[in-house]
Amino acid sequence: MDFSCIEDCSKCCIEREYYPTKKFGKVGVLILPDEKKKIESLAEKNGIKITILPRIGVSENKSDGPDTILAYQMMGREQNGNTCPFLNMESSKRSPHGGYTCKIYDSRPLACRAYPVIESAPLTLDSKCKFCERCDAPTGHVDSELESLVKIKDEMKTDAPYIWRYATGVGESQDKDLIENGWFLV
Ligand code: SF4
Ligand code: SF4
Repeated sequence: MDFSCIEDCSKCCIEREYYPTKKFGKVGVLILPDEKKKIESLAEKNGIKITILPRIGVSENKSDGPDTILAYQMMGREQNGNTCPFLNMESSKRSPHGGYTCKIYDSRPLACRAYPVIESAPLTLDSKCKFCERCDAPTGHVDSELESLVKIKDEMKTDAPYIWRYATGVGESQDKDLIENGWFLV
């Protein structure tokens, strides 16, 4: 069945996951280095407070942390890491499929444009997307999403020998003893 958003769904703008494990905390929306300034200024223009943390970094040596950041992440506005700060839950306005609207929809990050495509070859949709949860054999109709994912992958391509992942320190209160904060070599 071709992909289309489930009626009234806003799950991917609300629910944040621990990735790759609880130790790393909940992740935010991936923001590429060249998107960061734009997103920060859109937040300022809209009077919205956002938190952008690093996500993936690289280094030439096994040092204390990365020399270069390949990706950042915009954290959710709730204490447990959920809910994108740009999701407009205050208004009665709804998107064409009935979900909450995005305050920066036309300028949203590439990661939002790519979702629910999470792998290009073979084409893979995120099983946590509500459409995929309800569909036994989710398929295509995702050309623009795929194109966005390929752009992200291209921009994050690296030959650096050391890859670092940032643990956000954010998650559910019952998980606080498992969640770490700071850079880890992966
Ligand atoms: S979780 Fe899937 S179905 Fe729901 S809004 Fe996001 S992309 Fe659409
Ligand atoms: S920027 Fe917009 S589309 Fe992306 S997660 Fe936030 S509300 Fe959703």
